[in-house]
Amino acid sequence: MGALFNNYSRRSISIVEGNGTVVKDSDGKRYLDFTSGIAVCCLGHAHPALVKAIKEQSEKIWHTSNLFDSPGQVSLAESLVKDNHFSHAFFCNSGAEANEAAIKLARKHTGKHHIITFEQSFHGRTFGAMSATGQEKIQKGFGPLVEKFTVLPFNDVEALKGAVDDSVAAIMLEIVQGEGGVNAVTDDFANAIKEICETSNILLIVDEVQTGIGRTGTRFAFEQTTLKPDIVSMAKGLGGGFPIAGILGTAELYDTFGPGTHGTTFGGNPLGVAVAQTVIDIVFQQSFLDEVKEKSAYLVQKLQEGLPPELFTVRGKGLMLGIDCGKEVGSLVAKAEEAGLLLVAAGPNVLRLLPPLTVSKAEIDEAVKILKTFLL
Ligand SMILES: *Cc1c(COP(=O)(O)O)cnc(C)c1O
Repeated sequence: MGALFNNYSRRSISIVEGNGTVVKDSDGKRYLDFTSGIAVCCLGHAHPALVKAIKEQSEKIWHTSNLFDSPGQVSLAESLVKDNHFSHAFFCNSGAEANEAAIKLARKHTGKHHIITFEQSFHGRTFGAMSATGQEKIQKGFGPLVEKFTVLPFNDVEALKGAVDDSVAAIMLEIVQGEGGVNAVTDDFANAIKEICETSNILLIVDEVQTGIGRTGTRFAFEQTTLKPDIVSMAKGLGGGFPIAGILGTAELYDTFGPGTHGTTFGGNPLGVAVAQTVIDIVFQQSFLDEVKEKSAYLVQKLQEGLPPELFTVRGKGLMLGIDCGKEVGSLVAKAEEAGLLLVAAGPNVLRLLPPLTVSKAEIDEAVKILKTFLL
């Protein structure tokens, strides 16, 4: 029994330093980090541009609160809404908080309360985000949830059509469910959502906390679908390891959050904004995104060559991939770690690969080689 609450099942290694895709533990053992701190360290560890950004900003000003103008927030918002249909941003500190903002914005804007979400989704641990989450194990023991969330089967067009009525404020989904098992939305389902949202006063919230910021090979994963969300939430990759999160919304939503209606003390502080701006300046370059796609195709090809497809199904988008092993993967994650590869599970049967977006092909080769040693 230690001084920490027991809410994580932590692995026993402690990572003390990192560079790019490689990290070292306190015994000096080297690992390829294919977790990226759960899709957070999109530029790998100790990226020189991020180190420089945080150093320089830390010598100027760390925090001012949102009592004052924030030119850094404005520039970051402008970068995030450039070349897409969004107009405005709000910054906060975590994925759950970004989803809270999205849910509050959708309810206040429509004047309606009902929100449709999906089984195996994950939206965070605060009461609103937890109530939106379609996994009982996340909710158990915490008493009454926030009302008016309806959880439907994912990718089931008929169930969705049957559940939509005038009380629905928003439909909320992940384009690729991360925690729920690396399950992508189907084209048919995306098209059905699009049609419903276009022909009714229902907003579309896309939770891009894990899929956003280049993770799937485009700036946001929705760009690879027909969907045009009214609101996206983002967090994990946005600060490359510094906690910053936010939402983007369309121009129609601008008047909904008037002064004093929503906020957060730390949200968009100058340190976070300086780091996020550096992340976006790198990741949103088309050449960088093209490389993510290319490395994704390379990794998928190597996995499919190396692992018998009748035993292992590879799925996902970009550098957010899952290997469905058809059996419990807890012990496999431990074996990978022993062999020098850090992985994270997604649901009971899926190994999730979330390398830094800067991973090299040589590191991909090395990771696949390690995977084969304990999977075959
Ligand atoms: C991680 C995650 C969240 C929660 O983010 P926190 O920063 O842990 O609050 C929400 N939605 C999705 C899709 C996530 O992957």
